[in-house]
Amino acid sequence: MAKRRLKKKVKIGLIVVAIIIVLIIAIVVGINSYKKHQTYIASYEYKLEALGYKDDQLEYLLKQDNKIKDAILNKKYNEHIVDFLKQKYFILNNLDAYLEYYDKNKNDSFEHIISIVNVNANYDHYDHTKETNLDDGILMLVNKYNYLPEDYDPTDIVDVKNWYCYGENQIKDEVYQKFIEMFDAAKEADKKLIISSGYRTHEDQEDTYNSYVDRYGVKKADTLAARPGFSEHETGLTLDITTGTATKDTFEDTEEFEWLKENSYKYGFILRYPKDKEDITGYAYEPWHYRYVGIEVATKIHELDITYDEYYAYFLAN
Ligand SMILES: [Zn+2]
Repeated sequence: MAKRRLKKKVKIGLIVVAIIIVLIIAIVVGINSYKKHQTYIASYEYKLEALGYKDDQLEYLLKQDNKIKDAILNKKYNEHIVDFLKQKYFILNNLDAYLEYYDKNKNDSFEHIISIVNVNANYDHYDHTKETNLDDGILMLVNKYNYLPEDYDPTDIVDVKNWYCYGENQIKDEVYQKFIEMFDAAKEADKKLIISSGYRTHEDQEDTYNSYVDRYGVKKADTLAARPGFSEHETGLTLDITTGTATKDTFEDTEEFEWLKENSYKYGFILRYPKDKEDITGYAYEPWHYRYVGIEVATKIHELDITYDEYYAYFLAN
């Protein structure tokens, strides 16, 4: 009798143990799959997919920095975000502006929209302007959106010997020394470079601009001269170059211009207003206008074949 009771007790005991084991297993499995689910819900993959990204777009986005993924998660799904992200000069802070510009200019290329927005050219000239950062030194940006303070007075402005220029001209000393090196190298190649215009004071620019305004009105004046404070010539870092015989209209056809195209960057100068870039630089093609930015940056710009405005936006401002 006692033996049978014992047997029964053992049996019940085993069943209880088995139940407990099964319960433990179920709980562990449950916790694990719950955890997995929670991790998935918190993942970029889940969140981006929930926003509407899938296939190639999703795959591309998942490879981006978290900063980019976080920014995208803060926006509504947009089928063109990935197109913009794939562009070389994409700037995250400009993403909304790219999309906005695209909405109004659907036939424009993504690459071109990136250029336009990066340099603020989605705004009218002289709209959304700000004072330039003088701490940039020889790399300071002066264009139709970035101006020099009215009392800006560049240091180290020196007179150019008349051997190197027409009329009276001044320029920053560092630029002058580099110009002389370039002049000598050009001379070795039988080319004659002459400075036709260098540093202009704020007052010079004001007089020039105002005389155009008086004669033709603001609209036309804006196409002929920069507004005071907005001219690169006021930095002392800019030169208009000509030859012994050419005029501004014929300079493009000279051997000197060909030589400058191939060599000016070696002395730190860049062609500031290239052909077909008016919508980016704000200026018509000026084969004679060179800006000094130093050899390192000039070389990079030469290699990348971009305007200074684009270079500044991508490599210096962001
Ligand atoms: Zn010029």
